[in-house]
Amino acid sequence: MIRFIIFVLLIGLVYYLVRSYFLNPNAEEETSGSMDMVECAQCKVYVPRKEGTYQEMPDKKNLFFCGESCARQYRENI
Ligand SMILES: [Zn+2]
Repeated sequence: MIRFIIFVLLIGLVYYLVRSYFLNPNAEEETSGSMDMVECAQCKVYVPRKEGTYQEMPDKKNLFFCGESCARQYRENI
């Protein structure tokens, strides 16, 4: 009988771990976030979100750029 109780507890533990793994939004963000491509507002090239930078423009728009040079060019062209 005690074996049966341990078995049920193990199943419950595994079920809980699997469920918390799939419901964890942070773990999901890590895997999908690395493949998240964003378009540079200046040169229109798609780069991973982590490699680019968000810059607030004088007209209060928060735009994405692949690098500082593109952000500077965009500001000069406003
Ligand atoms: Zn760019």
